[in-house]
Amino acid sequence: MQPVIDVSSFTRSQALEYLNNFNPALYAKTRNYLNGHISYLSALIKHGIVQNREVYDLIRNKFSFAESEKFFQELAWRDFWRSYAHQHPQSLWQDVEDYKTGFQASDYAQELPEDIQQSQTPTQVINIFLNQLRNTGYLHNHARMYLAAYIVHFRKVKWQAGARWFMYYLLDGDLASNNFSWQWVASTFAQKPYFFNLENVQKYCSQSISIIPEENKEIDGSYEEISARLFPNL
Ligand SMILES: Cc1cc2nc3c(=O)[nH]c(=O)nc-3n(C[C@H](O)[C@H](O)[C@H](O)COP(=O)(O)OP(=O)(O)OC[C@H]3O[C@@H](n4cnc5c(N)ncnc54)[C@H](O)[C@@H]3O)c2cc1C
Repeated sequence: MQPVIDVSSFTRSQALEYLNNFNPALYAKTRNYLNGHISYLSALIKHGIVQNREVYDLIRNKFSFAESEKFFQELAWRDFWRSYAHQHPQSLWQDVEDYKTGFQASDYAQELPEDIQQSQTPTQVINIFLNQLRNTGYLHNHARMYLAAYIVHFRKVKWQAGARWFMYYLLDGDLASNNFSWQWVASTFAQKPYFFNLENVQKYCSQSISIIPEENKEIDGSYEEISARLFPNL
């Protein structure tokens, strides 16, 4: 599976032209869907081809604040994570807080299991996203959240192992955005763990990928069932 739009070879002028056609109001409505109207700007921002501030100014000059607010919030996350990393550099690889999963950090494995590295887990949609990461260097935000939650909560692997794996492949790999997002999913930088179920993946992804329920049993169940399975001590 390829990203809907591949901006990895964009020149600066192509990036600006692309941005000129970007609609932040549509972004706010559809951004959680795999085929949603997202900006695909992360690698261009990461490598300095366009600047966060410049993106903000371009959108601000064309749209009302109400139309743009959601998009600006997402742009701001990047700055927030970077500013936090600047003030707390030791937190980039250390747990900011304890896990809120009913487990200790020492209960989680240090290394990524082989089946995850080879995109051969028991769960078909996870394998699709793992392959996309390895083949394209880009993943939609929701797919990143699913993979991180799968690795940390379904497979009980330390977030650091997953974060290292992402940094190796992501074209937009940014230590602050990546590692603190992993910590947010893990719950070491959040009030509770983020997890998901098959129904959620079907809602947001079935327009883009074919999902075979029999091949996704590991993530199938209501939120109550999965929570009880993943976090029995809570
Ligand atoms: C586990 C995990 C790992 C991540 N690793 C990275 C990473 O290494 N580098 C990275 O740039 N982003 C990372 N993100 C944040 C986000 O997934 C990507 O920025 C986004 O998916 C990139 O696609 P886009 O440019 O189309 O995003 P859009 O949704 O169009 O967002 C526009 C811009 O806002 C910024 N942004 C959006 N969401 C976030 C967010 N949650 N945190 C920080 N910045 C955000 C990015 O610069 C992005 O280009 C990660 C998220 C998760 C859950």
